[in-house]
Amino acid sequence: MKKIALLVLILSALTSYTYAQSTKIVAHRGVWKNTKVPQNSIAALKHAIDQKVWGTEFDVVLTKDDVLVVNHDNDYQGTDVATNDYATLSQKKLANGEKLPTAEEYMREGLKQKKTQMVFEIKPSALGKERSVRAAELAYNLVKKQKGLKQTVFISFSYDACLHLKKLDKKVRVQYLGSNKSPIDLYNDGFSEMDFNYNVFKNNPTYIPQAKERKMKINVWTVNNEADMKYFIDQKVDYITTDEPELLQKLLKK
Ligand code: MG
Repeated sequence: MKKIALLVLILSALTSYTYAQSTKIVAHRGVWKNTKVPQNSIAALKHAIDQKVWGTEFDVVLTKDDVLVVNHDNDYQGTDVATNDYATLSQKKLANGEKLPTAEEYMREGLKQKKTQMVFEIKPSALGKERSVRAAELAYNLVKKQKGLKQTVFISFSYDACLHLKKLDKKVRVQYLGSNKSPIDLYNDGFSEMDFNYNVFKNNPTYIPQAKERKMKINVWTVNNEADMKYFIDQKVDYITTDEPELLQKLLKK
């Protein structure tokens, strides 16, 4: 009897361990909120690596002269990115004194280690589809040149950019961010993963089972409160993208 009780105890401990490990953390724009550094800065990237999160996300916009810069908006401190060159844009520093990082510099820093994955968001160009596809091509080439493809997941709201990445390389990891495709649509177009807003999953309860049936990886953005985190941990999604990686870490350890 005692042996059985012990076995049950071990099994339940193992199950809860597996459960706790099942969802992984993606730090949204690096780890910046509680560390008080600018989003998408090299400092935020370094904090993400220090916290050993599974992945660290960053946003990339294409300049007029074909430089990919790490910035969230089409505007960088009052200057339009798509219609200005890097020399002009980089005259202004980030709030912590850092130079506006290029994607090349950011990846070089990230690839100094092998654990934390680089979640590389290609922003749709304000100038349209052609420039978005160009951004995807340049992004792919720079990561390939740095031998970082196995440590990188590309994400984008530009479906054209996503399709182009798959055309360049079937094996490259790509997660579409938009809400106008279902997991089945993505699967039929050759994708094996997705990254949807948490409301998209909540409003479409068939999506998670559809994705799981097809063995597709599920990432969900941007989950910042405890109740939503618990909901998606219970749903056993693969990744949760969050501005609060410390909170998620704590919940996953429970
Ligand atoms: Mg982003």
